[in-house]
Amino acid sequence: MEKIVLGIFAHPDDAEILCAGTLALLKKAGWSVHIATMAPGDKGTAEYSREEISKIRKTEAAEAARLLDSGYHCLEFEDVYIMYDRESINRTTSLIRKIRPSIVFTHSPVDYMNDHETTSKIVQTACFSTGMKNLEITEIPYEPVPYLYYCDSMEAKNIFGQLIFTSMFADITNEISMKEEMLACHASQRNWLLIHHKMDEYILSMKRFGENRGKEINVSYAEGFRQHLGHGYPQDNVLKEILGDLLIVVAQELKQNLLRDH
Ligand SMILES: [Zn+2]
Repeated sequence: MEKIVLGIFAHPDDAEILCAGTLALLKKAGWSVHIATMAPGDKGTAEYSREEISKIRKTEAAEAARLLDSGYHCLEFEDVYIMYDRESINRTTSLIRKIRPSIVFTHSPVDYMNDHETTSKIVQTACFSTGMKNLEITEIPYEPVPYLYYCDSMEAKNIFGQLIFTSMFADITNEISMKEEMLACHASQRNWLLIHHKMDEYILSMKRFGENRGKEINVSYAEGFRQHLGHGYPQDNVLKEILGDLLIVVAQELKQNLLRDH
């Protein structure tokens, strides 16, 4: 298996908030890391033009990615106009075929905004399409379908405020400083969040999120994941194989009981 992992998210800073700790763990385990965003974060500003903020945010995302010796890729769609259509599926599948990851991370299918949910769906289809020769793109198909993991939704809740069940937690306690350093690269967003989301502390809110997930497995900081286990996708948990004791799979017992009963 090629030790390549790709995180595809809607906007710059999503990967840092949702899975940078786990990406750092994978890098330590010898994996090469790639981070991609569907859009350049062009609506994430109260002061700059679309062109200006896109440039700023892509530079910030590339700086953050560089801390993991990672490549940063922007698929150049637009914030709030991320659509599930031919173009987005083709462009995303092309990127996956160029990078040829064995593991892909993306947004939770249920999240606080549609850009995230649509990205999740696009990535799900793009992963499934890596081996389809008749897709309308020129990059060479490859198999098998990569392992697909969904990160937590923002603050791990749905749009009704209920906590979303997560089946596995990565203990990122030793990677929290790297995660913080990566998120701090997104300097433009601290001001933006202050104005629009009333979040006083960009970094502190990320840490609170990680602390809350950590409490569920009695560690200082954690990130939550769910694996896409639909038909045609890999069924074994490669993340557990790689991370060992640092990945706590909470649903295992429940899953075994269900299999026994049916
Ligand atoms: Zn986002």
